[in-house]
Amino acid sequence: MKKTWMTLLLTVCMAVAAGCGNGGSDAGGNGSKGTDSGTKTEAGAQTENPKIGVAIYKFDDTFMTGVRNAMTAAAEGVATLDIVDSQNAQPTQNEKVDLFVSKKYNAMAVNPVDRTAAGVIIDKAKAANIPVVFLNREPVAEDMNKWDKVYYVGAKAEESGTISGQLIVDYWKAHPEADKNGDGKLQYVMLKGEPGHQDAELRTKYSVQAIQDAGIEVEALAEDTAMWDRVKGQEKMQAFLASHGDKIEAVLANNDDMALGAIEALKAAGYFKDGKTMPVVGVDATAPAIQALQDGTMLGTVLNDAKNQGAATVALAAVLAKGETPTKENTKFDITDGKYVWIAYKKITKDNIADAQ
Ligand code: BGC
Ligand code: CA
Repeated sequence: MKKTWMTLLLTVCMAVAAGCGNGGSDAGGNGSKGTDSGTKTEAGAQTENPKIGVAIYKFDDTFMTGVRNAMTAAAEGVATLDIVDSQNAQPTQNEKVDLFVSKKYNAMAVNPVDRTAAGVIIDKAKAANIPVVFLNREPVAEDMNKWDKVYYVGAKAEESGTISGQLIVDYWKAHPEADKNGDGKLQYVMLKGEPGHQDAELRTKYSVQAIQDAGIEVEALAEDTAMWDRVKGQEKMQAFLASHGDKIEAVLANNDDMALGAIEALKAAGYFKDGKTMPVVGVDATAPAIQALQDGTMLGTVLNDAKNQGAATVALAAVLAKGETPTKENTKFDITDGKYVWIAYKKITKDNIADAQ
């Protein structure tokens, strides 16, 4: 008797669950019931005009604004994007992901606030069978391996570090007077991005490594985080100048916004006029950085290709949203190890500004 009731209960539960599953693929809110639209391939997938939820770590980030604009442009005629601001708070981003799930979107693109928190997002996505493409902030390998519908679009942080170090090497070799105190060593200051961000850690490490690999001895006068931020970059540079002044022979910044902030502080301290100069390098090749290259205040930067990172993210998410597996053929991007798209960096100085535009 007991067993019969249990069986009945189970049957009812399964029927309810199946019912939910069937109606579950209607992401468009267009009233189609899954049987009549003809565009559904499997639960959660939609071949025509798929809906993609996009959560950016914060809108108030110069580089990510470029990526966001590139995504909007790439999505035209391909997919409908719902782009939201996570306001630099992981709990807020998790709520946004819950919202994407409740709206039954066909895929998600997530720029994590805290890249080590990606596991939680993957669990949510997997439970709802909504594929997810991460971008710009790389989840750890363990999380990336949690599900086969998890992808990452980004750039190799080491590469940008190496290139920014090489910019300093080129300058040092061409300008013997850059060794202001003539001790044969390069005294530098470092403006770091957000601690824990792969781009902050690896750009810092590999930029210094590249200088040393070129046979130049280095001495770190100061290193501090300015959180990718221009105003903070200016404040930190002011502090560096206050404590080290003319001992500083080069400024390395993990991104252009911080480099531009440093340039402001240097200008206020009398640099970039009357023959007083300072090599400053950044990463991203944003429009104001290109302007600074033209003005001769920034020595060089590294193109962080927002356009292709945005385009690749949309291409992958759109293919996944249709229930297909991303390939070179259907996305136009090379896919490494079945889940990574790596967009190349490029050295930019005033001699090849066109490459960044
Ligand atoms: C960029 C920074 C940006 C950060 C955001 C980095 O790749 O170089 O400018 O603030 O990503 O995550
Ligand atoms: Ca020196």
